[in-house]
This record gives sequence, structure tokens and C-alpha cells, in this order.
Amino acid sequence: MREIQTKTITEIVKELCIKANLELRTDVMIALEESLNNESHPRAKKILQILLENAQIAREKKLPICQDTGIAIVFVEIGQEVMVVGDALTEAINQGIRLGYEEGFCRKSVVSDPILRENTKDNTPGIIHYNIVPGDKLKITVMPKGFGCENKNCIKMMRPTVSVSEIKKGIIKAVQEAGPDACPPFILGIGLGGTMDKAAQLAKEALILPIAQSSPQTHIARLEQELLVEVNSLNIGPAGLGGKTTALGINILTCPTHIAGLPVAININCHALRSATGYL
Ligand code: SF4
Repeated sequence: MREIQTKTITEIVKELCIKANLELRTDVMIALEESLNNESHPRAKKILQILLENAQIAREKKLPICQDTGIAIVFVEIGQEVMVVGDALTEAINQGIRLGYEEGFCRKSVVSDPILRENTKDNTPGIIHYNIVPGDKLKITVMPKGFGCENKNCIKMMRPTVSVSEIKKGIIKAVQEAGPDACPPFILGIGLGGTMDKAAQLAKEALILPIAQSSPQTHIARLEQELLVEVNSLNIGPAGLGGKTTALGINILTCPTHIAGLPVAININCHALRSATGYL
């Protein structure tokens, strides 16, 4: 077994929280630049330029890309030949979030109870997903998720006989309802299959994939492409002020499901799609 100390996990989570919040992902920058070149609407072009400039300033001056530095979603892949040594793993990750949000001057946005709503003042706890995988490595991805867009996510438990065009209609409706409130242009993560909770997790995980990556399943890649064309014809545009750049990309993840249903989860991310990955 390979031993990994929890203090090194805390350290890497801290660094990933800072990096994700201050440096917009390269694939998001490229997608914004490509959209700027393809956009014909003058106001949409101007907004895309501002978004790119904002990301550049954040990187150079080491400032958060957006004032909402989100709740920290953490995906942990643990090799089954790894032995974690030291503190409790979940506490080590939360300590990394605590330190990262403090050192990165990121807003603390987590409340301890959904009804009483008292701020925990250190942005913990994060939402942590563990996955056991083969090997002796540990992979950690931190995704700060703002709630302007998180509030617009939805899940539909569709009939197993639903047509592809009905699935598309449900996704398009979710995008229309999100409109300007979720800070377009969007990146959409879609989860198809599994159960209600699994589809929701897949939709979130889909946001970690490179924006330009297509599904290896031909029929799903076609669906991603067709959806992107339809979403970009809605004329919502950057900041919801019109234009053909409503979404920068759409990624779909699927998994087996029950014969009696088809869960469809839609996770809408704003233009500030932030995530950073590290390995131990
Ligand atoms: S939705 Fe995104 S861009 Fe808008 S305020 Fe929230 S984090 Fe910032």
C-alpha cells in the first residue's frame, strides 16, 4: 500500500481552491475567444471581450474571477492501493477549503443550516464525492460553484419511451428558464440515466470535462452537437442581452438505468466555470 499523509491532501486542496477561483480554465478562455470571433451581435461581442478581460485581470492581480466564489465541490478519486494516514480524510479536505478560501481572499458563502442560515465563516463544509478506483494515486478536483447558476439546475424523471426530441425540449426549456439569471454564456453538464441522485452527480461531473471534448458515444456526441446549435439559436446571448453565444459547450455523461425510467439532470454553469485538478 502507498501511504499518503492527510496534511499533503490539505495542502493540495488549499492550492486547488485558490487556483480554481483565480485562474479561469484554459479551455473556457479558448471557448470565450472562439465565441468572440464567431459572434456578430455588437453588444454580445463587447460583453465577451469584458469577460475575457476580467479573467485576465483576475489571473494577473490574483483576484477571484467572480465575487461569488461558490461552494466548494470536491471530487476525490482514491486508488485502492492508497492508505490515507493522519487525520480523518473529510476533515483534511475541509481544512484545505478553509485555508484556501482564507488565503485566496475568496468570499465565504456557506451556511450551516438551510433554515437557520448562519454563515460558517470559512466556506466549509464542501460537498465531497469519493470514488474508489484502481491504482495507487489520489486525484482531487475542486470545483467552486456559484449559486446564480446552481439555482437554475433541474432534474426530470422522464418516461423510458421518451423521444430524443422530447429530451432536447426539456433541456432547452431549462436553459430558457435560466435566462440571464444564471450569467450566460453557459456551459451545460447533462446527466442521463442512473437514478435521480446519480444523474445529478453525472451532470455535475460533466462540467469537469474539457468543453470541446465530445462524448465517445456517437449518438450522445450527436445529441451534444444538436443541443448546442439549438441553445445558441435562443438569442439569450452573453449576459442575456442577445446574440448567438448562449452556451460555450455541452457535455453529456450517461450510465445504465432502470427499464421503467430515464432520469435527465441538467447542471447549468455560468461563464465562470471554475475547476482545478491535482494528483498525489
Ligand atoms: S452565476 Fe457565476 S458569474 Fe454569476 S455571480 Fe454566480 S459565480 Fe458569478
